[in-house]
Amino acid sequence: MSDKFAQIASGLVATAADFYFRGWVLGTSGNLSAVVEREPLRLAITPSGVDKGALQADQIIFIDDRGRGISDDRRRPSDECPLHIRIVKERGAGAVLHTHSVWSTMLSNLYFEDGGLAIEGYEMLKGLAGLKTHEHREWLPILENSQDMLALADLVADNLRQNPEAHGFLLRRHGLYTWGKDLAQAKRHVEILEFLLETLGRTRLNSRIR
Ligand SMILES: [Zn+2]
Repeated sequence: MSDKFAQIASGLVATAADFYFRGWVLGTSGNLSAVVEREPLRLAITPSGVDKGALQADQIIFIDDRGRGISDDRRRPSDECPLHIRIVKERGAGAVLHTHSVWSTMLSNLYFEDGGLAIEGYEMLKGLAGLKTHEHREWLPILENSQDMLALADLVADNLRQNPEAHGFLLRRHGLYTWGKDLAQAKRHVEILEFLLETLGRTRLNSRIR
């Protein structure tokens, strides 16, 4: 395996452990990927059903643009691998990260009927790529969840084209997807969006209690 794959695999492991300890990828949930080569497209991705707090670099799977393992082991890549590949193709992303936090799960259901949720006026928005001011309205689309990953990948691709400015999206009662030009930027986007989702969720909860 190339040095680049090994470097990316260790980056994915460190990110997975970090997210696990923040409670964003508990119980084997969530998945992480990064592009190793563009031509032909090759990704490193987390395997299916593995505890992200105990993930090892040698468990990361090397796949092609159809989600087939290139390394000769028998482990399966994450079931959500078709979504990662489509996001990479649609956005030219270098890394795609998916979390199952409490706040993204709750808000993706609360705002599902609106088709998405708007996040506006927060300083933390400036952590999203290309944004220079808090005076921005970030639209986070919400898509219905499905176990048919190929159909869901088509839905995601359509939605990404309809929302070319979006930095991420939610799957209903499921979690957050975001991406970046590289793993560092994608990780930053998870942190920013998770922070903003928790802020919105807590604000809504407080306004109900009062
Ligand atoms: Zn998931």
